[in-house]
Amino acid sequence: MKTLYLLDCYKKEFETTVKSVNEKFVVLEESAFYPNSGGQPNDTGKINDYNVVYVGKFKGEVSHEVDKEGLQPGDKVKCVVDWERRYKLMRYHTAAHILANVINKNTGALITGNQLSLEKARIDFCVEDYNSEKLQEYVKEANEIVDKGLDVKLSIVSREEAISSMGEQFSMLAKGLPESVKEIRVVEIESFAKEACGGTHVANTKEVGHLTFMKSQNKGKNNRRVYFSL
Ligand SMILES: [Zn+2]
Repeated sequence: MKTLYLLDCYKKEFETTVKSVNEKFVVLEESAFYPNSGGQPNDTGKINDYNVVYVGKFKGEVSHEVDKEGLQPGDKVKCVVDWERRYKLMRYHTAAHILANVINKNTGALITGNQLSLEKARIDFCVEDYNSEKLQEYVKEANEIVDKGLDVKLSIVSREEAISSMGEQFSMLAKGLPESVKEIRVVEIESFAKEACGGTHVANTKEVGHLTFMKSQNKGKNNRRVYFSL
């Protein structure tokens, strides 16, 4: 099956064919619905008049859980992504990349995780020596990047190309990737950051809006956490 959101995050509607059905779980020939993964919650929306309540990735396929049974393999369907929800998550995802990179550039911290929601986002990072009061400055710096209106470019490259263009940072990540992963989706914020990521992003940093610092926490020895809202 084909995932449409990797190169076009603005695809809100599409027509396709049902590939397989298991009770309320539906696999489509192609899908623009984002499955819950990488700290970004799944999309919701409609497949014909069926409500999509959850989307997950299972055995390499995007599975859509709908609210009732009835769809059949071979059915032609019209799909609509709940755009208000998705667009907010796109803004949060790009914002999280910007803030994570600002933190990394200033402190050398390793980014260890992130979780997005419709109300706030969390970034986890690991660093020994750091001053939590500086976080408000980092958020300010992230807003300066947003205001520059940088383009966000998406591409899919070979594993080898990703390693050579992203250098050491990516080589570390690549070690953990199964050999079967031959293609890497790359998200590049023009002249600022280039990363491997499977999520959905806005096309220009201006669309993010404005990051507001919420709070920071110490989670054990070198583990830190910061929350922000848009
Ligand atoms: Zn990402």
